[in-house]
Amino acid sequence: MVERLRTQGIRDERVLAAMQAVPRHAFVDEGLAFSAYDDTPLPIGFQQTISQPFVVARMIELLRSGRELGRTLEVGAGCGYQAAVLSLLATEVYAVERIRALLDRARANLRPLRLANVRLKLADGSLGLPEAAPFDTIIVAAAAIGLPPALKEQLAPGGRLIIPVGGAEQRLLLIERQGGTFRETWCEAVRFVPLIGGTD
Ligand code: SAH
Repeated sequence: MVERLRTQGIRDERVLAAMQAVPRHAFVDEGLAFSAYDDTPLPIGFQQTISQPFVVARMIELLRSGRELGRTLEVGAGCGYQAAVLSLLATEVYAVERIRALLDRARANLRPLRLANVRLKLADGSLGLPEAAPFDTIIVAAAAIGLPPALKEQLAPGGRLIIPVGGAEQRLLLIERQGGTFRETWCEAVRFVPLIGGTD
């Protein structure tokens, strides 16, 4: 998988090492384990999907921009796979999920990996996680129609945020906070499940 990520253009060695270290098959149903290292999204139940490895790697590479992730907020923990990858690159990972049953699954998937710096919480991530803010980096794993204002506000100075934006057509948007200003860079086209308000 990692060799393929390299040929697909992922250059950040720390991201490649983290992708190498996390067993993706441990996050999907046993019946899908044979596809776990294919470059494809996979169902994780509740009409949600674990993103394809290339998209996970690319988003984290863009978010890092060659720097440390520091304290990270992940919106849309799903099955916990991306949180595990982030935990190897960040000082602390706060991962929020709006579907309780998926959060339970993420907890169960992550437990055997004994990652001391990951915290999971049931919450509507479009509101960020005010009690743990500000964050050095924020990664959103579901597509928003527009950038939720709370996420921007919870970025630390010098912080970076990556989010898929759009409806039928989506693109990754990278936001970099420099003092009071926010620089926006549009990146590649992607396909994510929608960001939905509230929790179940
Ligand atoms: N990163 C995940 C995959 C995420 S799929 C993984 O590695 O498995 C997108 C997830 O975002 C879904 O689980 C969905 O329930 C969640 N989601 C959608 N809107 C949300 C919101 N407002 N707050 C928190 N989670 C949300």
